[in-house]
Amino acid sequence: MQNFLYQLSDPTQNVPEADFKWIASLKEQDIMCDCLNIKRRSAIDVYLNEKIKKSFAPITFADGTRVGMVKKDIISIIGLSLFEKVYFIGKVYDINHNLSEDYVSLVPKINPVYIRGGKESTCSICDKCGVVLYFPLPLGQEYLVKNQIPNYVLFPSNFISGIIVNEDIYKTVKQSEIKKIGYQKLPIKENAIDGYDQYLHKYLRDISLSNLAKILNKLKSLKKKETNEYISNQAFEIYLKYENLLTEKQDFILLKLIAMNEGKEFQLSEKEVSELLLELNPK
Ligand SMILES: [Zn+2]
Repeated sequence: MQNFLYQLSDPTQNVPEADFKWIASLKEQDIMCDCLNIKRRSAIDVYLNEKIKKSFAPITFADGTRVGMVKKDIISIIGLSLFEKVYFIGKVYDINHNLSEDYVSLVPKINPVYIRGGKESTCSICDKCGVVLYFPLPLGQEYLVKNQIPNYVLFPSNFISGIIVNEDIYKTVKQSEIKKIGYQKLPIKENAIDGYDQYLHKYLRDISLSNLAKILNKLKSLKKKETNEYISNQAFEIYLKYENLLTEKQDFILLKLIAMNEGKEFQLSEKEVSELLLELNPK
């Protein structure tokens, strides 16, 4: 693996203004949390409160959301297939509801990767949706942690407009001389120095939809089998009761399930498993 990856992002202060009603509807439909975390991941069409301006950066986002916007020429330079592996791609409409010829919207399919910082970094958990809210500090010393880098050459970071790419893609974009792209070189470290692994580890797993299906099938195949390695029968019965909540709280439940099934550091006791599942008690 290379020792560096690169983040491409919006270096301007000129972020496209989103339609307030559209933002409100994302929250009403429980697609987006107040913390801006996108809870139900699928393609989301963006509605702006202004016309598409030349001053917009080619990699940006709809202000007040975490829905990305990328110019089609960037996608064609890099390759649509690389984007489609890790993003749902949607449409962008301006204030007059005219379809943008230039931009598409991006919603991550996989969990965005946290760019880490030092001990000064801030870290909390959203009490509404359970996502980790993390900001690396001090500025200028950000890095990635080796075992948390997914097996893709392009993937989303937890910065709203941030797209992490390998050196080849970085060079390709840089050589295109497209303006208003922010470039950040991110060293890859063996270990984080911020002390927040216990919060961040279980949220850093690749939870692409195909992986989720595999994990669920694996769990189902283990039903009624006695095993010390996987989820207990009792916990699984509880889980089944809440299975129909998967669309609503899919991330939350499945991250817990993955946490229960991966590696020693993620292993939870039966009691902990039951408690986690019971937390999901529907109203
Ligand atoms: Zn939230």
